[in-house]
Formats: sequence, C-alpha cells, structure tokens
Amino acid sequence: MDKKYKDLAKFTQKFTTTHLKGVKPDRFIETLENLNVNAVIDVRFWNIFPLYYHPKNMKDLLEIHGIEYVLFQKLGNPTELRRRAGNNFLFAKRLYQEFIRNKPEPKKQFLELFKLSRLNKTYCLICYCPTNDPKLCHRFWLKELLINYKRVQLGLSGDIEVQNLTQKLIPEVI
Ligand SMILES: [Zn+2]
Repeated sequence: MDKKYKDLAKFTQKFTTTHLKGVKPDRFIETLENLNVNAVIDVRFWNIFPLYYHPKNMKDLLEIHGIEYVLFQKLGNPTELRRRAGNNFLFAKRLYQEFIRNKPEPKKQFLELFKLSRLNKTYCLICYCPTNDPKLCHRFWLKELLINYKRVQLGLSGDIEVQNLTQKLIPEVI
C-alpha cells in the first residue's frame, strides 16, 4: 500500500465524534471510554449550558477520567450562519466550511487543531447538534476539512466530499 494512503487512513482514524444533547455525563464518559478517546475537542458555538458541560466543568469531568480537554470555540457553527442556511444543510455545510477557511480566527484554530492532531491519539470532536448524521452537523464538516487538509499535505486532491467518513475512504485505501 502506498504510504500516503496509509498515512491518510491513520489520520482519518484519529478522529471520532459524538454529541452532547440529551446525554448525561456518565453516559458521555462511557461513550468516550468505548471509543478509546484520549482528547476531547469541543467545537460548540454555545458552551455555557447545561452547566455540567460548561467548559470548566467539562475539563474537570474529563480530567478525572484521564481525558484531555481542548476548547476550540471559534470552530463552532455560528447562529448567524445556521439561520441563513435554514433547513438547507448543503448550504449550511458550504457556509460553515467557507467560514473556517476564510475567517482569520476560525482558520487559526483550525490550523492549531490540525497541528495538535499530529500526535498519536484518538480525538473526539464534540458539539451540541442533536444528531450523528454527517450530513447535518458541523463536527463532520470539520472532520472533512481536516482530512482534505491532510490530503493536500500528502499531495492528493483536497476537495473530497466525505459523506460517510469511513466508508468512502476505505476503498481508496485498499
Ligand atoms: Zn454540530
């Protein structure tokens, strides 16, 4: 197997995601432990409520379980963008990805996250969107951006649409 694709597969596997809405802390921790998560990447636009998931409390909660906590608030999906997109999730995704690519602060945090993820750890992107559907939530759109950024670094095309983030990548890897 080409080393590039091996690197890409390894990179892709570093990122998992889960959501918080309606999930109590004990179940959240259980999910993280099942996924062997080493670090939680918080990409919520609003992160104050519920109080037990306030960044400070989240950090304490995770620390007890030996999980690192990193907050990237600028990688949240701003309310204004979500309002503009309404129920058009394709448009919502485009707005979000353009926002990350073009606005200085989100772009800076994106690059920080990319740099951070060179370590051999499992990272879990978390947000408050009540869904695990890749078409509907910015955690997956962010993961797609990360993968495409990695692809460009490896000399591959950087505009792959990753709807189902594992299934689409595997055939390319094999
Ligand atoms: Zn989301």
